[in-house]
Amino acid sequence: MALKSDYATQECSIARTLEVIGERWTLLLLRDCFLGLRRFSDFQRHLGIPKAVLTARLETLVEAGVLERHEYRAGRHEYLVSEKGLDLWPALHALNRWGNENLSPDGPRSYYLHAECGSLLEAGGFCAKCRRLPGPAEVEYRPGPGRARKPGPPEPVEQALRNGHRLLEPLVLD
Ligand SMILES: [Zn+2]
Repeated sequence: MALKSDYATQECSIARTLEVIGERWTLLLLRDCFLGLRRFSDFQRHLGIPKAVLTARLETLVEAGVLERHEYRAGRHEYLVSEKGLDLWPALHALNRWGNENLSPDGPRSYYLHAECGSLLEAGGFCAKCRRLPGPAEVEYRPGPGRARKPGPPEPVEQALRNGHRLLEPLVLD
């Protein structure tokens, strides 16, 4: 379902923000970028979305300055979270926390910890132990007990994340 383009005309910062990140798949694409995925083929494989949709979402995010497109080899590009994009981390963390608390009866599906001290982040992204507000590069992802076990071999991203992973560091897929 496409959002109406007249959101941009509203005098509301939430509406303006949704013009950039409110389209279907965009937040999951951003989540993947924070988890360390960078390449089109990896996003496509993990999200399972049509290539045309992925192309359009990446274009929107690059145009909005949320992602930076970077040529890592002649003709090959990867997508990195820009400074502007890093500012979206608290919003992603808040959405994850809400989902864990309200939509995860079997326990959290994922945890975010302050990597330096190993403590869980609380509401607002504060470290429960040191009371600091770590930036995403100081945060570690860990899978939680509420994740459903799917039959068959583990999906490559799940596999790569199974022992935890520092946000924004490139995720090496098998
Ligand atoms: Zn801490």
